[in-house]
Amino acid sequence: MTPCVFCNILAGRAEASFVYRDASVAAFMSLEQPNPYKVLVVPTAHVETLYDLTDAQTAELFQVVVKVARAIRLVSGCEGLNLVQSNSTAGQQDVPHLHVHLLPRWSGDGVVLSWPHVEEPRAALERLAAELKSAF
Ligand SMILES: [Zn+2]
Repeated sequence: MTPCVFCNILAGRAEASFVYRDASVAAFMSLEQPNPYKVLVVPTAHVETLYDLTDAQTAELFQVVVKVARAIRLVSGCEGLNLVQSNSTAGQQDVPHLHVHLLPRWSGDGVVLSWPHVEEPRAALERLAAELKSAF
């Protein structure tokens, strides 16, 4: 077995409950279900982070993300849905194989995604935007 749990799942060496699978993307039930119907969507190739995706992989991955999100909404009747995609240790990436969490949400479900709500001055936002624009 490779050390990558998602590669082991994709190779059939570890269990998962698949929702969707094609040549380049797979979706399976998350082991953790903070709300029912939480799904993980992954590229079938071992791609570690978002930065490593090709444009084609990006398109294929996010087309499946939207497809699965619609299925979750239809089946669960969820009132909302969060996408969570984490990169690297500081970003709290728990498995080093790119994955997108699709978490259906209901009002008052107790799930908390939180950061401080402090608005930056426009000048600071313009400076940050200019730095990013220069990086393309
Ligand atoms: Zn992997």
